[in-house]
Amino acid sequence: MEYIPTIGLEIHSELKTESKMFCSCPNSPDTSLPNTNVCPICLGHPGTLPILNGEAIRKVRLVGLALGARLLERSKFDRKNYFYPDLPKGYQISQYDEPLCLGGKLDIGGEGTKIDRKTVHITRVHMEEDTGKLVHPDGTDHSLVDFNRGGVPLMELVTEPDIESAAQAREFVEELQLILRYLAASDADMEKGKLRVEVNISMATIDADSGKKKLGTKVEIKNLNSLKAVEGSVAFEIIRQTQALDRGEKILQETRGWDDFKGITFSQREKEEANDYRYFPEPDIPPMVINHQEVEKLTALVGELPAAKRARFIRQYGLETATVEIFVANRALGNYYERTMSELGEWVNVEEGDDCNTDCEENLMARLAANYLVSDVQGILKGREFCENNYHATAENFAEFIKLIYKKEISSKIGKLVLAEMVERGGDPTDIIKDKGLSQISDEGQILAAIDGVMEKNAKAVVDYRNGKGNAFQFLVGQVLAVTHGRANPDLVRKIILQRLGDGAAADKK
Ligand SMILES: [Zn+2]
Repeated sequence: MEYIPTIGLEIHSELKTESKMFCSCPNSPDTSLPNTNVCPICLGHPGTLPILNGEAIRKVRLVGLALGARLLERSKFDRKNYFYPDLPKGYQISQYDEPLCLGGKLDIGGEGTKIDRKTVHITRVHMEEDTGKLVHPDGTDHSLVDFNRGGVPLMELVTEPDIESAAQAREFVEELQLILRYLAASDADMEKGKLRVEVNISMATIDADSGKKKLGTKVEIKNLNSLKAVEGSVAFEIIRQTQALDRGEKILQETRGWDDFKGITFSQREKEEANDYRYFPEPDIPPMVINHQEVEKLTALVGELPAAKRARFIRQYGLETATVEIFVANRALGNYYERTMSELGEWVNVEEGDDCNTDCEENLMARLAANYLVSDVQGILKGREFCENNYHATAENFAEFIKLIYKKEISSKIGKLVLAEMVERGGDPTDIIKDKGLSQISDEGQILAAIDGVMEKNAKAVVDYRNGKGNAFQFLVGQVLAVTHGRANPDLVRKIILQRLGDGAAADKK
């Protein structure tokens, strides 16, 4: 029997705002001292009134717009009633039938990724408040509750069950994570619980007679706190459910957890009757209304999203998709690259829409600068973040450096020394070269003297070369570069050695 995995996601994301959703307590759930960011409102004391955080609403609407969702002209909050120790009011302020955003979609995969292009439709995006956090100290018979997180603005996004594989599920979460960061809506850090994923997964079958898709029993996987957990749990469930169905077993409608260590999902609880949360409109908060002009104003604030940036970087700079992905994921690095390219633009003309084949000067420079940033600079930073504290070269100086390399005024070996100095301490590359005595030797007499010295010491290599051993030539070039500490102009070194060895024809070609 063939099964079609049918997967929907429910994603909660803590919004990045100064204060909590309904009070002026700091939105800082990671504060190490428990129950310090609390007040009567977020502790749910009787008689207190919630005051809406406009910034949080604006951020959810921005996310909606970025996903092509419809912003509801009128939206309201509802009370979701249930009892739990981390919920002091006895209800959570959430949204039921009039969420902030409805519909929308997110395209994932395609060029440069491991999966085919795929559109995942969004059901809704709404706003609610986060709950407190229960702590269970080891070896004790009680639990503690920390309300620092209680009342933190939380966005909930629900997708249609369009996803069909573990890789797609992961890709969706990753792309959404980027979008949230681009909009400064959330840090979307999964390890810190700022982005939490729940998976709904079932296996559909195709009815042999009607050809219609028949949905299977839905299983929920809760509390997935890393991309690896999302991908791993979905992959595991697809296999588990397929095997169970093949054995003729029924899939239980249940909630499962994910064991990161064992790489398996496990049953947490069987679904009883659907919970009745007795939703009713929140009487203390008036409905939220937005008009056409306000939607237009917000739309203008969405800015360039990751997908558009990807396409532009490939088009404008002719970079490989893997390199582009690094610049898209690391915005600071991507922005720095763009500043560098605009500095270089005064030297070569790098403009969008230029007719330029892949090997024209513009693209060679663009790729050279990109390669230095994604490989050499990362090598110097050794895992440290690319930021002002760790990286001190201005875009102007870095562009200058790229020019020196491109024009072969310094060798790549000297380049590494200069770049390391620029990253660690900053400065103009030309000054660094001068101060450290790293300037290139292009004086033929000086190079000739070095070559003569090397040939004298390595008579055997000279004989080898004359007997047709090509690598003897490379060896001699390497020796000359070594005695000049990498400063000799490598092209001149090759040319003069060939002349010296009586291979003038080859020398002219070089
Ligand atoms: Zn508070």
